[in-house]
Amino acid sequence: MSATAEIITIGDEILYGQTLDTNSHWISGELDQIDIKVIRKTTVPDLEDQILSAFEEAEKRADIILITGGLGPTNDDLTKPTLAKYFSVELEMNQAALAEITERYERAGWELNELNRGQAIQPIGSTKITNDLGTAPGIWLERNNTIFISMPGVPFEMKGMMEKEILPKLKSRFVKGKIYHKIIRTGGIPESKLAEKLQDWEGNLPSHIKLAYLPTLAQVKLRLTATGSDMVQLENDVEEQISLCMPLIEKYVYATGNIELEERVGQLLREQNKTIACAESCTGGYLSHLITSVPGSSDYFQGSYVAYSYDIKEKALQVDHEILETLGAVSEEVVIQMAENIRKVFDTTIGVSLSGIAGPGGGTEDKPVGTVWIAYSDGEKTEAKKFVFAKDRKLNIQLSAMVALNMVRSNLMRIS
Ligand code: ATP
Repeated sequence: MSATAEIITIGDEILYGQTLDTNSHWISGELDQIDIKVIRKTTVPDLEDQILSAFEEAEKRADIILITGGLGPTNDDLTKPTLAKYFSVELEMNQAALAEITERYERAGWELNELNRGQAIQPIGSTKITNDLGTAPGIWLERNNTIFISMPGVPFEMKGMMEKEILPKLKSRFVKGKIYHKIIRTGGIPESKLAEKLQDWEGNLPSHIKLAYLPTLAQVKLRLTATGSDMVQLENDVEEQISLCMPLIEKYVYATGNIELEERVGQLLREQNKTIACAESCTGGYLSHLITSVPGSSDYFQGSYVAYSYDIKEKALQVDHEILETLGAVSEEVVIQMAENIRKVFDTTIGVSLSGIAGPGGGTEDKPVGTVWIAYSDGEKTEAKKFVFAKDRKLNIQLSAMVALNMVRSNLMRIS
């Protein structure tokens, strides 16, 4: 049977809607990958009695209790004294933690004060967890086969600790056999459609292979997890299942393994010796940002125009004045002209363009917020597609860019 875990996030700001609890989401995903079952998540305020009762409840149910937040050096950070109280132990200076904090401050050239030294004080009987990315070490405490792990609330500090120390320790303690994961990455198809296509295949998966749908922005990742005793066998079993499902979804698969969509697009452009330029309106350069976040993108990315106003669309991209006036900037004709003309201006193989209503204002009945036109042009072919995304501005920008990338990808793979 799998080990069980509960996650307790501490902080008024999470309860009041000021901070989105991304920590427990991320931790759940990581534990799932090593077959540790998260059975409950709880968020509590910065109040001792609430934290104590959350500990008490969780201890009755779970083998592992992961806590984030309230670990800092200030008075409102209650996790440490509350853990000590719960375990009926005193706090003491943990010399290993102090040595790490001192070394970290010396390296940064900062002066160590009492507040900083106080971060090395931990409940008696606990083990420190190294925090490479911040100054508050984590705490590992055990009793009666239950493990309490306390980490900082700051997401990147928590992740650093989990990846470096906590997950490997939990894995070696709770994962008996071998685990093999492989991710199939898809774009351009919603989760429900993908599930429909894979229904029969999924139903026939051998019992030691599990499938998880992991939807992200305009993409769905399919994670296959095989458990057993022989790693080579597990790899072969997963590959066999991938070869069975591939014909059902090939058109949507952009890669298997650890590669993001923007990297895959870069790979394809490089392989095919092609170049790209973008004409962006509603995304304000976000598509270009994604493309250029890949090392070596200068091999294929020539540049972009952020042509936000009508005036610049006309002047810089020679979009027809009449068309802009009659059909508006968010129209098929305009994105087609933008994509075709950016190709010419930058002398690239491919031109991509986007124009839409990111919101929250600016929507109309026939063009509601979230309406985005995206065009692709490569000299031989030009295509434009209309999408209606969300009500949220940031989300619309991100979705538009990802969908545009996927359009480029499917054209480069000649499967659109
Ligand atoms: P610090 O040393 O900064 O005081 P801490 O362990 O005391 O760290 P908190 O003060 O609780 O942590 O939170 C630090 C930051 O991390 C805050 O910006 C908070 O909004 C963010 N944070 C806390 N909990 C979460 C969470 N569950 N998900 C995402 N962000 C969080």
